[in-house]
Amino acid sequence: MDCQHIVNRIYDQIVQLEDRGAVASYIPELAKVDPKQFGVCLTTKDGKQHSSGDTQVLFSIQSVAKVLSLSLVLSKIGDDLWKRMDFEPSGSAFNSLVQLESENGIPRNPLINAGAIVVCDIICSLYENPKDELLEYLRFVSGIKDLTYSKDIALSEQQTGYRNYALVNFIKSFGNIKNDCETVIDLYFHLCSIEMTCEQLSYTFGFLSNQGKQLLTQKEIVTPNQAKRINAIMQTCGFYDEAGEFAFKVGLPGKSGVGGGIVAVLPNAYTIATWSPSLNKHGNSYRGMQFLEAFTTATQDTVF
Ligand code: GLN
Repeated sequence: MDCQHIVNRIYDQIVQLEDRGAVASYIPELAKVDPKQFGVCLTTKDGKQHSSGDTQVLFSIQSVAKVLSLSLVLSKIGDDLWKRMDFEPSGSAFNSLVQLESENGIPRNPLINAGAIVVCDIICSLYENPKDELLEYLRFVSGIKDLTYSKDIALSEQQTGYRNYALVNFIKSFGNIKNDCETVIDLYFHLCSIEMTCEQLSYTFGFLSNQGKQLLTQKEIVTPNQAKRINAIMQTCGFYDEAGEFAFKVGLPGKSGVGGGIVAVLPNAYTIATWSPSLNKHGNSYRGMQFLEAFTTATQDTVF
């Protein structure tokens, strides 16, 4: 298949449609982004990239980063992770508190806020300087030596993240947060503040299309079995209460973030990152979803 040709063709088709989404405004710093930007980058398993649009502009990857914190923790503690959380879809919004009450502070999965906060707690227990160690890991996985947290975005979340403060405190009340709540939530906000371009994000997630090995260098990020599990969790939980719809329409494991980024993976073939800041009502990029649906419909290359 001529990847560049298909990427360009679908991009040109989607960019002409009306964008009916809205930029996330509950994090004030994200509301400043120009909503007209739109980029798409496909990275094949052999490291070749096919880009269209605004693929070299840095944006806040937000919850897409939850896949990377999950990879770190899985590679460190393996299946012990599942003593602290489940791997079932929640069917609820990303920042929901409702299931935690009846499920005794055990988050449904690592890709909703509650689960990612417990993952951050585990990182706090593993390292003396969790923020530095996490950043070091993200630099390693992405291959971006000067990757850094966005102080402005982390601060903006800290000032308005009432639900996330509620989540960490609520989970702690069940004994499933071992460290100080402030330290854990600070790490979580910093994790979400990471910025990448579409091209960088697409390359970074390449290990999930390559049996756990980093593209080009072939260094192991996670084992092949862990890569399988991460892809499975992305498939069932990556889009919160829209996970079913994403599987139905796109047919690939993926993960979204409220910065407007989406990454989707076709194991053993490619990763594709899209970025368009306007979101649908589930908090997933409006144009990104449209692009990916049109893309897999055109290629008929999906996990199904
Ligand atoms: N930092 C965001 C939050 O906690 C992440 C949400 C998302 O990207 N879905 O609300």
